[in-house]
Amino acid sequence: MAAPLGRNIGGYNGETIDINDMLQSAITAAKAHGWSIERFPNAGNLPLYGFRRLAKKPRLTIYISTGIHGDEPGGPLAMLELLEDNDWPSDISIFACPCLNPTGFTNNTRENENHTDLNRDYRHIKSIETLAHTAWINQLPTFDLGICLHEDWEAKGFYLYELNPDNLPAVSAEVVEAVGAVCAIDQSNLIDDRPAQGGILKPVVSPDARPLWPEAFYIVLHKTRLSYTLESPSDFPIATRVQALCTAVRTLIDLHLAKR
Ligand SMILES: [Zn+2]
Repeated sequence: MAAPLGRNIGGYNGETIDINDMLQSAITAAKAHGWSIERFPNAGNLPLYGFRRLAKKPRLTIYISTGIHGDEPGGPLAMLELLEDNDWPSDISIFACPCLNPTGFTNNTRENENHTDLNRDYRHIKSIETLAHTAWINQLPTFDLGICLHEDWEAKGFYLYELNPDNLPAVSAEVVEAVGAVCAIDQSNLIDDRPAQGGILKPVVSPDARPLWPEAFYIVLHKTRLSYTLESPSDFPIATRVQALCTAVRTLIDLHLAKR
């Protein structure tokens, strides 16, 4: 199995992507497979898109987003691979956001071009990106689960956050096991200053728990009661990271569908 590259010293120093090329490829793949493509309302000049693929009688409705941090290319690349493979079960509906922070990718920065960490902007929303994204989300139906694709330059392996305030049946352990076949798992007891066990973090979701909300808090408080934030280790080879994220998404969908 791939080992860390030792490149990320003080930040992400791996491959970057041309986000406009990536978005064009994602749009092309989605259109070819029958998705509808929408620009977010009031997005100005920013290339902010939501894709939807609706099943006639969905057994599962999911939301997948990525690219909220511009120094985490593995997420958009994994989304592109999933769109191009088009290997989704036929009876699920999917809402997908292929890149929530395009200017961050242009600059290879976590924040957008105005130095805002968009993934802390979902409580007292100020940025154009988050205003446009939430305007799009607000008119969607509810989802059975949400999935946010991220990377962590400091991680020793893959890990995930499960937001599950009602203790619904969840599959985090199974996802980590599946990803473990293709990528190292971060077994630290403390990840991102939060207690972790076997690559799984289960933060408390209450509006008061954090002054600044990430995207996952917003969707759990408005559109779903179960969300997974997937974190691939960005000091590893890009192919490993993309494979880790794709494996996690496919496992989540398959196992939640099996519970229906
Ligand atoms: Zn991130």
